[in-house]
Amino acid sequence: MLKGKTAVVTGSTSGIGLGIANALAAQGADILLNGFGDAPQIRALTQSLAAEHGVRVVHSAADVSVASEVVAMVTQCVETFGRIDILVNNAGIQHTAAVKDFPDDKWEQILAVNLSSNFYAIKTALPHMRSRNWGRIINIASAHGLVASAMKSAYVAAKHGVVGLTKVVALETARSGITCNAICPGWVLTPLVQKQIDDRAAREGISEEEARMRLLADKQPSMEFATPEQIGGITAFLCSPAADQVRGTTLSVDGGWTAQ
Ligand code: NAD
Repeated sequence: MLKGKTAVVTGSTSGIGLGIANALAAQGADILLNGFGDAPQIRALTQSLAAEHGVRVVHSAADVSVASEVVAMVTQCVETFGRIDILVNNAGIQHTAAVKDFPDDKWEQILAVNLSSNFYAIKTALPHMRSRNWGRIINIASAHGLVASAMKSAYVAAKHGVVGLTKVVALETARSGITCNAICPGWVLTPLVQKQIDDRAAREGISEEEARMRLLADKQPSMEFATPEQIGGITAFLCSPAADQVRGTTLSVDGGWTAQ
């Protein structure tokens, strides 16, 4: 379905981003991976993704909290593959604390990674998409882009911002072959969530398994984690012709979290 197309997936050396990169490569798209990690591990990841799906894969080490590095990353995709068709803004970080204790630098960092990076990547990619009158912009927001939880001021503010940005971009591209949508996952068991499970186990003096169950019981009625593969599948759907008129919306993959 995506043969001949290229995709930039930010934060794709781990977790949900890697699931998305896999799903798009499986459909034939060439991939620009981005994210931090150990160099040999990233090299192995790049090679295995390319070999498994018969696509081209390159890595950008851009720190997406820095605007110029975001611009360079999108430019690298265009220079390497000659085009950018799909942009998935997925890189994200978390920090939990009450507002009164929330460190200023964490606030700035979360806003930069989780929200401003989306703006700079979209702004850079859009002219290239417009030149072909086709594009898919998919922003990985969160259930926290729709509802809030205590202790997550920066994350919730950034993710609500992502949903707002998604709507604006969808309106500005409405008369074109470019669509912009957000996916809003609930709990997905990745390193980002594992840290919250470990913190909770330590704080409440309970086992990791009990902490995992309590985390789900608090928010996710299905009592099951969503998976990176499922988020990848939804992303591939948004890149399909069936989704041509899906514009400016949010797709929840949250086990019923926001139905409550
Ligand atoms: P993760 O920690 O497993 O992966 C994050 C990825 O982003 C990694 O590849 C990391 O190297 C990269 N990254 C972090 N900071 C970066 C930076 N400054 N520049 C470039 N890359 C950077 O996290 P995840 O759980 O897979 O989260 C992916 C996205 O999904 C995030 O936006 C997160 O907010 C969102 N999300 C996650 C969940 C969940 O339950 N895991 C739920 C809702 C939304």
